[in-house]
Amino acid sequence: MKKFVFMFVILFVPIFVHAAAPSLNVLPENLIQGEPVIVRIEGLSDITQVIAVMFGKQALQPFLLGGTVAALYGVDLNMKAGEYVVAVNLIDGTKLEKKVIVLGRKKYEAPLGIPQKLGGNSTTSQTVLVNTLAIENAQLAALATGKKAFWTLFFQYPVKDPFVTDEYGYTRTTGQYSITHKGVDLRASSTTRVSSINRGVVRLVKTFRNYGKTIVVDHGLGVMSFYMHLSKVLVNQGELVLPGQLIGYAGQTGYAEKPHLHLTVRINGVSIDPIIFIKLLGR
Ligand SMILES: [Zn+2]
Repeated sequence: MKKFVFMFVILFVPIFVHAAAPSLNVLPENLIQGEPVIVRIEGLSDITQVIAVMFGKQALQPFLLGGTVAALYGVDLNMKAGEYVVAVNLIDGTKLEKKVIVLGRKKYEAPLGIPQKLGGNSTTSQTVLVNTLAIENAQLAALATGKKAFWTLFFQYPVKDPFVTDEYGYTRTTGQYSITHKGVDLRASSTTRVSSINRGVVRLVKTFRNYGKTIVVDHGLGVMSFYMHLSKVLVNQGELVLPGQLIGYAGQTGYAEKPHLHLTVRINGVSIDPIIFIKLLGR
């Protein structure tokens, strides 16, 4: 009889334990200009309970990430450093808040060399470079993104054994101009396989003067990845690609002096540090 009572307690106690109230988790904890942010509402799996998720004055779109309500935000490289509030309002009146500090990024400058194939280091080729880059950037900025996530749970690196040769966020100066590197360069040869960092729809396949052979993959919900200076493209515009699917080979087309893979990741139009992004949303 005693034994029976004991088992009864063990089996039925969990039913009387209330589910923990939702709590707010914002990562990374130490945020720097140009970094992505993931907001998770721990303990909440029903997206219809969410009225609003805000980063400062910016409304974020909530989605389900591995069964937990989450939202993504890209802190622009030029966003004012300082304190911001991440706030969540739920339908039952619950308000969750967390203060985050955006720290200023150290600004590095490096001189920019223009390859001979793009006119070398003359004042004219500097002006042509800056003007044509502006046109290419406008075309890339105009690409549409899906209203829901196409991605599956984990993002991954686009190359095997990733090694950053040129970091995100430094400025290259050429003559009177300065150009900010809003992506990372990964070590690669012209035979390095380039794969999609997650599931997505190929929004653009194009050869640009400066960015060279380029693939843009839309992962939905404002997340897009850009693969540039490729030697070969293996996918077509409109095609659905899977996580890790081979999409092309690295190269040095366009403004590149040696083979490498330039990777840009954007969240709602804001280019953030792709390495931090993959670390945050990777395995
Ligand atoms: Zn680059």
